[in-house]
Amino acid sequence: MRSRANEFSERYQHNFSVLATPAEGLSGKFTAKDRKTFGELPGITDKIYYTNSNHVPVYYKCSPRHKARIEGPYHELTRGGHIFYVEIDGDATHNPQAISDIVDLMDSNNIGYCSVNHNRNRCMKCGYEDSQEHLDICPKCGSSDIDKLQRITGYLVGTTDRWNSAKLAELSDRVVHK
Ligand SMILES: [Zn+2]
Repeated sequence: MRSRANEFSERYQHNFSVLATPAEGLSGKFTAKDRKTFGELPGITDKIYYTNSNHVPVYYKCSPRHKARIEGPYHELTRGGHIFYVEIDGDATHNPQAISDIVDLMDSNNIGYCSVNHNRNRCMKCGYEDSQEHLDICPKCGSSDIDKLQRITGYLVGTTDRWNSAKLAELSDRVVHK
């Protein structure tokens, strides 16, 4: 695809490029259409979402190093845009070394863009913050108005209220990369 885009760039004197799609709209819509046409195929249409571009599936348990080694080569081919992300457990706010290690990984695997995902909960009533995986009630004031900061396909979001069902299914399948 990259060579084809290069050919077209030469031929038409325009900048064509390949983009690794973030899949917000495509993720659910295409899967439903393909399931209708081809039926439920194991590992392909058996979930309600498609894996983002050339990513290792979100439910696949592996280390950040392994993930970088697989996804890195595609960044050179998708110069229109791409993202590598790592889900880490715990709180990265006070662990700059964890972030630094991931930046080193990017460097050694020729990765162009990266995000580090970790939980961040904030009580909207009293301001209490932590990084627990499931926080529904504030331990300080008892409020259930908890803002859960998460990242999906490159955007920071406070709540998942506006995510489509396909992306919600993807979120619940995500595993931490250790
Ligand atoms: Zn609170």
